[in-house]
Amino acid sequence: MAPPNHRLATSILQNRVPSFTKQPAKATPADKPLILRVAVNAPLNRYFDYLCPDDWQSKPLQPGMRLQVPFGRSKTVGVLLETATSSELPLSRLKRALAVIDDEPVFDDALMKLLSWSADYFHHAPGEVFATALPALLRGTRPLPSAPEYWRTTALGQTENPPKRAPRQQALLDLLRERGPASTAELPALFKGWRPSMKALCEKQLVERCLIEAEPERPDQKQPADISLNGPQQKAVTDIGETFGRFATSLLFGVTGSGKTEVYLALIRRLLASGKQAMVLVPEIGLTPQLIQRFRDRLPGKLAVLHSALSDGQRLEAWRCARSGEASIILGTRSAVFAPMLRPGLIIVDEEHDVSFKQQDGFRYSARDLAIVRARLHGIPVVLGSATPALESMHNAESGRYRLCELPERPGGAVPPSMRIVDLGAHRSDHGLATPSIMAMHTHLDQGGQVLLFLNRRGFAPALFCAECGWVAGCRRCDARMTVHAAQGQLRCHHCDQRSAIPAHCAQCREELIPVGQGTQRVEDFLRQQFPAVGVTRIDRDSTRRKGSLPDKLDEVRSGRSRILVGTQMLAKGHDFPDISLVIVMDADQGLFGTDFRSSERLAQTITQVAGRAGRAQRPGEVLIQTRFADHPLLLDLIKDGYSGFATDALAERRAAGWPPYSHLALLRAESPNPDDARIFLEAARTEAEKLSSGDPCLLGPAPAPMEKRAGRFRAQLLLQSNRRSSLHKLLKDWVIKLENLPQRRKVRWSLDVDPADMF
Ligand code: ADP
Ligand code: ZN
Ligand code: ZN
Repeated sequence: MAPPNHRLATSILQNRVPSFTKQPAKATPADKPLILRVAVNAPLNRYFDYLCPDDWQSKPLQPGMRLQVPFGRSKTVGVLLETATSSELPLSRLKRALAVIDDEPVFDDALMKLLSWSADYFHHAPGEVFATALPALLRGTRPLPSAPEYWRTTALGQTENPPKRAPRQQALLDLLRERGPASTAELPALFKGWRPSMKALCEKQLVERCLIEAEPERPDQKQPADISLNGPQQKAVTDIGETFGRFATSLLFGVTGSGKTEVYLALIRRLLASGKQAMVLVPEIGLTPQLIQRFRDRLPGKLAVLHSALSDGQRLEAWRCARSGEASIILGTRSAVFAPMLRPGLIIVDEEHDVSFKQQDGFRYSARDLAIVRARLHGIPVVLGSATPALESMHNAESGRYRLCELPERPGGAVPPSMRIVDLGAHRSDHGLATPSIMAMHTHLDQGGQVLLFLNRRGFAPALFCAECGWVAGCRRCDARMTVHAAQGQLRCHHCDQRSAIPAHCAQCREELIPVGQGTQRVEDFLRQQFPAVGVTRIDRDSTRRKGSLPDKLDEVRSGRSRILVGTQMLAKGHDFPDISLVIVMDADQGLFGTDFRSSERLAQTITQVAGRAGRAQRPGEVLIQTRFADHPLLLDLIKDGYSGFATDALAERRAAGWPPYSHLALLRAESPNPDDARIFLEAARTEAEKLSSGDPCLLGPAPAPMEKRAGRFRAQLLLQSNRRSSLHKLLKDWVIKLENLPQRRKVRWSLDVDPADMF
């Protein structure tokens, strides 16, 4: 987070002001000058004050408007936070704002509050926070987009025609009758020289201009009848429906396939009837074309979709539709939480436990948590849905802060899968598959079922090893082993993407090298040999890199052409495979002893989500969990009592250890090309923190990151922990300013992560 322009940044910080004025601004002595407090897009943790030019007195300035302001030697754009009559700085140091860009605020009052709250809470540069919430095209001086202008036939124009001597008018009228409203932007391509004819038609009142495209009534858009909800679904809709019109947080805790999406659809239908808008946030990987289609098919009104793969133009248009109220539903990933809404009514966060809701660099916000804050600001309900809620959310439901709605069963009599542990210590295994697992595969395949194997390790083998001297091929730039990618004849580092040819023999003793362990490619090869009669499909980041390959692969499995599916985390969410009857978790141990206090939570979530792929239709499913720790208490909990049983015990562990939700964390990370600089910076940071507080929050570290070296940089971290959120934030507020000034910061890249989701 080191500012790109150190000299500039330092001079600002020393003076706490943009002090580039050559001639001091002339303050009118009679009345106090108006001060404009602006969130300027710069990596500095403060707002900037400017003088309001005298000739602006007539302009109705409102918070949320974009202003052009001088900054350093150039000019930039910021968002007006507020106007004031005094500044911390002498007026002579303030510069004059240059121009008002907008006639109306870009953000409404609730969004303004959300953004300034976010900057405070995450202790991040406000200008960057505000910029994150704007579509890229509006971060400069481009004017707010207005609604496109449309032309449509009037009721009269449906039956009456222009006079015979006007064939062009007739042709244009026929065009509009046939295709429905056409926008000014698209008309030139549809009808060359359209304007005079359109004008004539308007004069005859056969055609009219309108701003918003009337939703065309197309017969193929008829809403299919809603599925009739089962008891628990109905209860959830009723309970959550009761909260419409006020702030309340509900946790919809429903086992995989229990019909949570149906509950969302029913709630949204109900909401739309009152003319309000709904926002639905989904994880990156969950926003599939199938989900978008399901929302389109089942709900009336316009859907605005916001995700990272949109072009800037598409994103702006979706944003505009959300803001103008044209879109009734806003469906998007993380950053959609900042989308404006004219008539907000409901926010839904699906798969609320998913880590993709937390931004992992720059402004490290949690979209799930911000959704709750936003709902509170609007006075509307928010629903968090998951089969495996975050332990924080389980805790909040337990303590009554969230209303709990449970969907304990799958509709239509589908039975939940049965889970069993396969002890890797007690059975022979071949290519990572224990004998009982292979036998179960045969049984299920013979009975016409499909099998899913989950292994969260792509590539052929996770290490290349010399049996003679013990040498292991490591990455030069990371503390990590190179993964063998046999098909490409390459070694690849999965942390920095460094690549090299597979060496012919050991670098130390010239002996032969052996790939050890299993990656998905190797398992795929093995399965093809073992089960030559059935198709095998592998789904991981390598096999789906080519655009369009993922839908092809999914189709191979759904159509039954392939009956064995092996893959990574990509399989854990979003996809339905109705005929899968057996799921094998090949290596649960990866998660049991992770370095992060959240490792076991992640493991339980993954196992539960992957297991949820089995037996979704009428086939009873079976889940085998391979482990070397067959009596691990958390695994036993999960099998015996499901995710909620696991959560109860895992929360007890967290309480005993003083981890969240029983304490609050912030993590200061630093990295540097030199092994010592990150630690030196963090030690200085610690000293500053000690000066600012006495014992609370407690400071842990600095310590090297679990993987100290990555992509050629050495990483270290300092953890702050407190039982009281207020004392943590009180310290952070002053500390961040100190950090921005520490001389040691010059040699490092640092960032502050409030409520970190990952500890490395
Ligand atoms: P979730 O979002 O919890 O994974 P979905 O809403 O996608 O669950 O539902 C899983 C499957 O069950 C879908 O195929 C859905 O159409 C079906 N389903 C959901 N609710 C019902 C119901 N009440 N009756 C019949 N089928 C249902
Ligand atoms: Zn060797
Ligand atoms: Zn590497």
